[in-house]
Amino acid sequence: MKKDFKYKCDNCGKIYSIKIDLMLCPVCREENIEGKPLKGILKVQLPKELKNSLSRKKKINIFDYLPIEEKYFPPINVGNTPLIEAKNIQKDLDFKNIYLKFDGTNPTGSFKDRASYLVSAFAKKNKVNKIVVASTGNAASSMAGIAAAARQKTFIFLPHTAPKAKLVQCLQYGAKLIQIKGSYDKAFDLSLKFSEKTGYLNRNTAYNPMTIEGKKTVSFEIVEQLGEKKADFVFLPVGDGVILSGVIKGFTDLKYLQRIKKIPKIIGVQSKKSSFIYNAFKNKKYNFNYKANTIADSISVDVARNGYMAVKDLKSIDGDMVLVSDKEILSAQHKLAKINGVFCEPSSAASFAGFLKMKKNISKNKTIVLLLTGHGLKDIEAALKAVKLPKTYKADINFIMRNLY
Ligand SMILES: *Cc1c(COP(=O)(O)O)cnc(C)c1O
Repeated sequence: MKKDFKYKCDNCGKIYSIKIDLMLCPVCREENIEGKPLKGILKVQLPKELKNSLSRKKKINIFDYLPIEEKYFPPINVGNTPLIEAKNIQKDLDFKNIYLKFDGTNPTGSFKDRASYLVSAFAKKNKVNKIVVASTGNAASSMAGIAAAARQKTFIFLPHTAPKAKLVQCLQYGAKLIQIKGSYDKAFDLSLKFSEKTGYLNRNTAYNPMTIEGKKTVSFEIVEQLGEKKADFVFLPVGDGVILSGVIKGFTDLKYLQRIKKIPKIIGVQSKKSSFIYNAFKNKKYNFNYKANTIADSISVDVARNGYMAVKDLKSIDGDMVLVSDKEILSAQHKLAKINGVFCEPSSAASFAGFLKMKKNISKNKTIVLLLTGHGLKDIEAALKAVKLPKTYKADINFIMRNLY
């Protein structure tokens, strides 16, 4: 691997060399029980030589801070998504600095591309060209698309409830789809068994350390794009909690590099109908029998695979969690599209819904970043719930002027 990047076990703190077949800490993984959050997740550690090496004036080259060399990444543009100043929302809410980090503009339409991009490079470097993933939809379509750009083959385990657009994406990218009767959680466990039997690289979120590491890149972009301004709050949606840990990892790295002095207040948002991490964070209660059923499919997770680490990470930086209803999510989705021209999927709109819920406790000159993780076109059925398709009329100008004008 690239010199001096290492893995550190999040449970026992043991340091390991980065290897393609090392996914969890070999000691702590023994404690894992099927259907529970993972123990022994490995986090990439920056080399000591990089400490304090990123001054405020220096332009960030993200590949300097990732464990795989640039030449192994597939020829497709991931990340560098727009940070949109939400001027209309600012005006309506009387806030001064609200920004939308719109990751729906990634090649496959979601934030997941950040992780797939690094996983694909990791596989390429190690001459592995078959990748397995379980997904609620976006991780699958993302891996399929990014891997296609790298000429790698993707095997996907999906619950039968995944939105159609995401399935179609996978098929267009030429992936092998294994749709199962049962939840995402079932698909997760099945895919682990499949990759164990075949030796293919597993990209499951949290399980593959590169998924967390790849997601940190968004924090580097936010800091660079804000320039002189500093983010005070970052709102993001939470399902398995890997985006949460990835974003925190990014800001923690930036502090280690001395690019920033303070980590923003990170607020994780969940649906009331998918609140595993919220419950654990607020009430220290891990409910392993929890059943999620939110309309926001990308954050509909029964038992969060990254549950233990996400809660620990969020506590370590004094972050917070908030719950919103599905109705609030759908209304936030429509508002973002209607007021600011940004059409994102329901899970992403949770960021905005969470902000709306907390805004009375936030002073109006603070800089707020809302992470919008996926494109609205990925789930048309959900988006349709907040709007009505029109009736069909005869093509007659007199009729239209009389009845519809
Ligand atoms: C996966 C996903 C999330 C949730 O990320 P986790 O790491 O599972 O918490 C949120 N939004 C979108 C669009 C996603 O695809």
